[in-house]
Amino acid sequence: MRNVYLDNNATTRVAPEVVDAMMPFFNDLWGNPSSMHLFGGQVASFVEAARNQVAQLIGADPSEIIFTSCGTESDNTAIRGAIEAAGRSVRIITSRVEHPAVLSPCRYLREHGHEVIEIGVDEAGHLDMDELERELEKGPSFVSLMWANNETGVIFPIRKIARMVKESGGVMHTDAVQAVGKESIDVSKVPVDMLSLSGHKLHAPKGIGALYVRRGTKLNTFLMGGHQESGRRGGTENVPYIVGLGKASELAAEYMKDEQSRVAALRDRLEEGLLASCPDTRVNGDQKHRLPNTTNISFQYIEGEAILYLLSDLGIAASSGSACTSGSLEPSHVIRAMGVPFTAAHGSTRFSLSRYNTQEDIDYVIEKMPAIVERLRVLSPFVE
Ligand code: PLP
Repeated sequence: MRNVYLDNNATTRVAPEVVDAMMPFFNDLWGNPSSMHLFGGQVASFVEAARNQVAQLIGADPSEIIFTSCGTESDNTAIRGAIEAAGRSVRIITSRVEHPAVLSPCRYLREHGHEVIEIGVDEAGHLDMDELERELEKGPSFVSLMWANNETGVIFPIRKIARMVKESGGVMHTDAVQAVGKESIDVSKVPVDMLSLSGHKLHAPKGIGALYVRRGTKLNTFLMGGHQESGRRGGTENVPYIVGLGKASELAAEYMKDEQSRVAALRDRLEEGLLASCPDTRVNGDQKHRLPNTTNISFQYIEGEAILYLLSDLGIAASSGSACTSGSLEPSHVIRAMGVPFTAAHGSTRFSLSRYNTQEDIDYVIEKMPAIVERLRVLSPFVE
């Protein structure tokens, strides 16, 4: 049986080059970069080299990169660190389709006295820019809006949004966890104050992330401890993983064009193939302004989870837009916020590709899918 991995927005395979770059930091160069002796000095320079590689990928200065343990920590640090630094009640603007790593800290802050506004999206997943403008007119706010959505791949116009936020005197954070490595990002041209990224979405291991913090941004330390990361994040540096993220960032820059052309062509082939061979099927979200590797397809009248099980039996990994809560399959908050009709929302399935996918992978899925859909529709209470 063929194994086809199309769940790269959940996590990616660690690139072999990244593994090779990391290995010496387990076997030989295992010192603590803060140590004054030879063992520490040997590794400290590699941490700084990795900081440089990450900074280069997003057009930042290396001094503006803080290494964290994951995208979730980066988001929490940005949001809670900035609000705490403000030292007063703050209006927080975010969207209804953010990842829980952003929505949870925002809702936590709402419970602690801050006003939180969650901007809506339309059926294509576009942010309601009029609503954002109206909210920004009310005064300086802290804004956290994602660069690209993890479920649909839809890209928000972050450059325009960041300019609006800065003109209104606000502070802007973007969760770019899904965008970094897939989209070209240059913070010297996009006036965001903070940007989150995560290693395991770009072929580095799980457990490493980074937060870009523009020089001059007021941010309280979230993880308090030692003086690591120039006093901005306590905890002994995870040297092998930091080196891995550096290497993955370098490779991402190298492969970006491939993602944007070859991977996007494979994604389009998959989408067209499935729409043509499976009746009553639709794509969720704008097909133009989205990540090159992602498609979210609804197979109407059937459950996404059931599709995933049958795909998995055939060696195919994808993911659904449903969250299984206490036995009932609810469509995800993203699909619900987009107002996708009930019969389509339940059958929403996300396919997310990477540089390791081939045309054979895609053709295998196109070949197997019609029988799965047909089989499940026979069982569907919505089909006569
Ligand atoms: N933000 C987005 C948009 C994501 O897709 C994810 C992970 O799926 C995260 C944040 C959290 O990243 P991590 O898994 O590194 O904590």
